Amino acid sequence: MEIFHISAECYPMAKVGGLADVVGALPKYQKNAGHQVRVVVPGYDTKFKNENDFECVHWGNVKLGNFDFPFSVLKETTDKLGYELYLIEINELFNRPNLYGYEDDIERFLSFQIATLDWILARKSVPDIINCHDHHTGLIPFLIKYAYKYEGLQTIKTVITIHNGLYQGWFGFDKLHYLPEFDLIHVGFLEWDNSLNSLAVGIKCAHAVTTVSPSYLNEINISANGLESLFNSVRNKSIGILNGIDFEVWNPSKDQMIAENYAINTIETGKKKNKEKLCEQFELDSTKPLFSFIGRLFEEKGGDLLPHASALALSENFENINILILGSGNAAIEEQLIQLRNDYNGNYNVFIGYNEELAHLIYAGSDYILMPSRVEPCGLNQMYALRYGTVPIVRRTGGLRDTVIDFGDSGNGICHDQASVGDICYSINRAMKLYDDKISFNEIRKKGMAIDHSWERVCKEYIDIYTLIIEKNEI
Ligand code: ADP
Repeated sequence: MEIFHISAECYPMAKVGGLADVVGALPKYQKNAGHQVRVVVPGYDTKFKNENDFECVHWGNVKLGNFDFPFSVLKETTDKLGYELYLIEINELFNRPNLYGYEDDIERFLSFQIATLDWILARKSVPDIINCHDHHTGLIPFLIKYAYKYEGLQTIKTVITIHNGLYQGWFGFDKLHYLPEFDLIHVGFLEWDNSLNSLAVGIKCAHAVTTVSPSYLNEINISANGLESLFNSVRNKSIGILNGIDFEVWNPSKDQMIAENYAINTIETGKKKNKEKLCEQFELDSTKPLFSFIGRLFEEKGGDLLPHASALALSENFENINILILGSGNAAIEEQLIQLRNDYNGNYNVFIGYNEELAHLIYAGSDYILMPSRVEPCGLNQMYALRYGTVPIVRRTGGLRDTVIDFGDSGNGICHDQASVGDICYSINRAMKLYDDKISFNEIRKKGMAIDHSWERVCKEYIDIYTLIIEKNEI
């Protein structure tokens, strides 16, 4: 079948978080399974775009109210990604260093969606499936069904995959005229809570809704930033599919970004070398257990709990542990984390920013990864950690609940129930005791490394959904 993935992120072209990892991997495995797969993302000004060759395959013009945005579609010329990558180049809107966070984000992603559909319409063949990802592409299922100009695309079946339901792409009805013309009888599909809610539109109009873990699907029926009742009403077309991880990128025996490659049978020496390198870089003591955090520093990730929890764990256990944090986000949290350096020099360090290479070294060199998330639709960090023999310490929520089982229940990690400083410190305490029991600690690390979170299995689940909605053939 012919499949299009349309997304705001795709690794290695443009990454902020897990969305990029998923859209950069799933298509590759779908192609390996024999399908024609294309990925479309905005043509941001990224390192990948500047260092790779593209050819122009289409150009056109998006009209958004009074604005006119000329666009071109660029195709990556090699086959190295394992799927065809296309960029929607709209200089005025995407030739910027950051992916998000601009005042005109609504105009940017609306233009992206319209330009993508214009191009698909102009192509000779119509795909079987369009898999939209998150709110940035949520209007596509509506436009295909109801915009007059896309009538030729109505045979396409659409899926919306929700990687994060907190962000919904709201805008006012004063911008309704930006949308290509459609019969106003359908305007109700666009509305949620008196505004135009892109994610809600996608959920209402797509033929299937997927979330990135089964537990997250259950949770958003109870709490979803205002969309709970909508999720309840589409339960019969929804499914939670746990993400996989890309073993070609995340493989400690081949990873070029770490200090020493290792496998299960060389875990002890391999992890030791990586830990030494990491500790040397951050002036930590490699003989002590190393607890790390990687991620966006926001409440959703429990980022606000990290300064206090780190201070408490370090003051109670000063000299006994190291804590290392890699992330960026909320400025106040960043500042508190930087301040902690003064008090716990030698046992604590932080790197504010985004650094892919360092993230790999941290997964390889740490003993534990902390994930005190309040919300975690799937979470990839814990799966990468397991793959690198690093024991995850997680709050039981979303995908963390589906992938990490407490070692007290013969599992692969350490779990707690509350997103609180007390629960994090309690888990750190349990982790220290486990660390001293070298035999059990090693057994758990090896168990984590052996888990199969490969995309092959997951890929089949997506194809099954696509097949089902194609066979049902509902409008
Ligand atoms: P989310 O998408 O909600 O941020 P996920 O756990 O799904 O969380 O994915 C996070 C991805 O982003 C992982 O690949 C993680 O390693 C990476 N990541 C997050 N923050 C950073 C950072 N500061 N530097 C490098 N990689 C990061």
